Amino acid sequence: MRSVPEAALRAVLALAAGAVARAAADPGSPPTPAAAAHAFLERLADEVGPRLTGSPGNAAALDRLEAELRALGLAPERQPFTAPGWIRGDDQVEVLAPFARRLRVAALGFSQAHPALTGELVDIGLGRPGDYPPGELRGRVGLLASGSPLPAADYVGAAAARGLAAILFINREGGGQLLARTGSPAGQPLPLPVYSIAQEEGRWLGRLVARGVPVRLRVETRSRCVPVATANLRVVLPGRVPSRVIVGAHLDSWDLGQGALDNGIGVAQLLALARALAGAPRHHAVELVWFNGEEQGLQGSRHAAARLGATPVVAMLNLDMIGVPVAVNALGDDAFVPFLERWNAARAPERRLPKGVENTNWIGSDHTPYQLAGVRALTFNAPLPREAVRHYHDLADTVDKVTPQLLEESSAVILDLVRALADEAGLDPARRPPAETDALFTRFGLDARLRAFGLK
Ligand SMILES: [Zn+2]
Repeated sequence: MRSVPEAALRAVLALAAGAVARAAADPGSPPTPAAAAHAFLERLADEVGPRLTGSPGNAAALDRLEAELRALGLAPERQPFTAPGWIRGDDQVEVLAPFARRLRVAALGFSQAHPALTGELVDIGLGRPGDYPPGELRGRVGLLASGSPLPAADYVGAAAARGLAAILFINREGGGQLLARTGSPAGQPLPLPVYSIAQEEGRWLGRLVARGVPVRLRVETRSRCVPVATANLRVVLPGRVPSRVIVGAHLDSWDLGQGALDNGIGVAQLLALARALAGAPRHHAVELVWFNGEEQGLQGSRHAAARLGATPVVAMLNLDMIGVPVAVNALGDDAFVPFLERWNAARAPERRLPKGVENTNWIGSDHTPYQLAGVRALTFNAPLPREAVRHYHDLADTVDKVTPQLLEESSAVILDLVRALADEAGLDPARRPPAETDALFTRFGLDARLRAFGLK
């Protein structure tokens, strides 16, 4: 999966396993920051449950994290904000004909409650205008294939314009899996309910429609949009100068599983950083921020980035579903590449990131609002194991998939980069001029995505 030479990989794994074994063998030795953070994540996932923004689990997670940071002698502060939110209800989608069967479904976020409706299924392919069959479609339920190239707002808009009553969207992963996610990254209530359905059930319904067998459905949506009052949580570790390195990870999750991979792992990596960096000031201050509302459309990072004011920031590093890094990504900001090249080159040969420095911008997590505020942002290319990550946003995103070794190895690389950033006096905290920021998105063809998030 990774292009790390086999022997180097085995050596790293043996080292990490050895460290874990030693920590376990000697009850007198304190746990490493990553081991302690892993233990915290396990308790958080198992005892608090999923952390959908605005839910009791989310509030309990904030409390626990705050208490954990205080116990470390730190002074976390909440950054409260209100944002568009969404509560999942007991939604029901049933096949009435050719025979009765309730489907496994997960409404997409911002689907709105409505009285029960019945309608006949129609295949709408990938949801592009040319994919719709001719004839009257008003009141019908659209079956959307997986892999639509359109942003949700576009296929939802096209379906609403034709009078469709609901959309059933076939999952890209098989095995009965569902995919919770937002139907509107801009946080707007959807004009019609959209449901993720299992790939196998979707294909079955598709075969019936293709053979001309009428499929009647009953859809009742009880989920609803409600504004939520929530907060980010942050800790500032003072430096010798006021400028700061910001490291962020979103605390919130979807509600079907435990949100361990997305993004409990980032929550724990940030906690490991807090433990490793506390009490040892670097040149720049280090701000650690646990964002809320990321899954509903980057709500917490929008709020935080909008309130940066004149704070000098040398870099923002976003940790969202980070496994062991194979590359660090300057996100299209050429000015950052030489520093990152030097950092990687200075690492011991067997620890160098095998893919080095990448420089490709992308949208969809909490770095974007900071970039738009002119801050230089970074992410890692750090794939999680395929067998684990395929379950993200669903029931099986559970803490058993985040091993102590994974947290130990990934945290070591993250800590090394954060220390390097925080110790580099030469990094420029000036904001990028707006024209340069615009170019950062235009150059990578991201303007439509920015608009879908309501960020442009
Ligand atoms: Zn995430």
